[in-house]
Amino acid sequence: MPSVGDLTAGNIRSGLLAGDFSATELAREALAKARAENDRTGVFLSFTEERALNAALRVDRSLAAGEPLGPLAGVPIAVKDVIMTKGERTTCASRALQDFVSPYDATAVQAIERSGAVVIGKTNCDEFAMGSSNENSAFFPVRNPADPTRVPGGSSGGSAAAVGGGYVPLSLGSDTGGSIRQPASFCGVVGVMPTYGRVSRYGLVAFASSLDHIGPFARTVRDTALLLGTIAGSDPMDSTAATAPVPDYSGGLTADVRGLRLGIPREYFGEGLEPEVGNLVQAGIDSLVGLGCEPVTISLPHTRYAIASYYLICTAEASSNLARYDGVRYSRRADRAALRDMYRDSRAESFGPEVKRRIILGTYVLSSGYYDAYYKKAQEVRALVAGDFSRAFEDVDAIITPVSPFPAFRLGEKTSDPLQMYLSDIYTITGSLAGIAGMSVPCGQTAAGLPVGLQILANHFHEQTMLNLGHAFELTRGDGPGQT
Ligand code: GLN
Repeated sequence: MPSVGDLTAGNIRSGLLAGDFSATELAREALAKARAENDRTGVFLSFTEERALNAALRVDRSLAAGEPLGPLAGVPIAVKDVIMTKGERTTCASRALQDFVSPYDATAVQAIERSGAVVIGKTNCDEFAMGSSNENSAFFPVRNPADPTRVPGGSSGGSAAAVGGGYVPLSLGSDTGGSIRQPASFCGVVGVMPTYGRVSRYGLVAFASSLDHIGPFARTVRDTALLLGTIAGSDPMDSTAATAPVPDYSGGLTADVRGLRLGIPREYFGEGLEPEVGNLVQAGIDSLVGLGCEPVTISLPHTRYAIASYYLICTAEASSNLARYDGVRYSRRADRAALRDMYRDSRAESFGPEVKRRIILGTYVLSSGYYDAYYKKAQEVRALVAGDFSRAFEDVDAIITPVSPFPAFRLGEKTSDPLQMYLSDIYTITGSLAGIAGMSVPCGQTAAGLPVGLQILANHFHEQTMLNLGHAFELTRGDGPGQT
């Protein structure tokens, strides 16, 4: 039986149909491998063994009965622990919710299970998805599969490392300011942030509601396209989910990208970008040009204001969204006689330092004396950043940039300086503020063997163009599973 780490969703399907292995065998292997290594890797916060084996059995029974298989039949998948899985814990890597059992399934989880996927566990992340290194998990950090002394990125570090470490071919993460793209880049896997509203967020624990997305990780662009096609679409349970029809993303992977105009924003290739990363991204652009794309230098002039805007808006929204964790209806309660003490201590004991920092900052920028100076200004800047992109997309089909200024850094290297950590999000948060689609696709390794991703950004609902570019690009590289 092939190792689960070598399989894609595509070849799991053919292996099942050929009788090479059963879904149950595959689920058992994925669970055993992930469990055996978890003390070392920190990837999973919990395993959903019974649920996985039941799902695998359903696939094996359908197969035996000659029934048609769903598009993700038998594929082991990991789900970030901010996404609800009914009857299982959803902790958000926070002490606040360490015993919280999901009362319902997220729409995306329903969709993947309806397609035959086998959820094997919930992945570690930064607490409430706030962070860029996974070190803000209240429980334990995740180690980068390419180098265990380094972070996997964040906040969806566990979901990226679950794929990069070969435990599952697919996983779900969430991206608010880069939390899918940056860990995908650090772990050498493909990660997609769909357009805002393309995928229902029903059942995603809210961090910053105007910026949150659910999206896929996989080892190949083809697999991310398959998973995105499964979870995208409108949802009566989420009024922000778009009703635009969902194209056949997999069917649209022609790898023909001739004549596409690629915007190369000059603001993304300047100060702060490590030369080794810059060179790999430039080589990636050159190979897209070799496929017939036309590079166009563009300017996104408000880029330098984006970090300040993002960290005001996301903290404001977080302070409001996290108000519900007061120990009464949700979250851990401190047992105190007086009501005020109960509220104060429940929150003080529940949240880690980064979450507290954001609640305090967010409450400050929303307070009456400061609202206009900070929150309102940040929203105005957000509109300017979005305007930069809409002007650019009048002339280009996609925009190519680095994902992060540097590859995976060492555990502990940036924890003492939150501002440095925030600054590392510079290339991903602009797309988040604009609500457009973005992905990270592996574009090589540094001399030290650390993966580097190339970011492809596309206009609202132009995922197909983005995925096709990513697919064509990965086929040129010849070091991944590519076509299957
Ligand atoms: N690193 C960013 C932050 O800390 C992004 C997090 C995310 O996308 N969830 O807010």
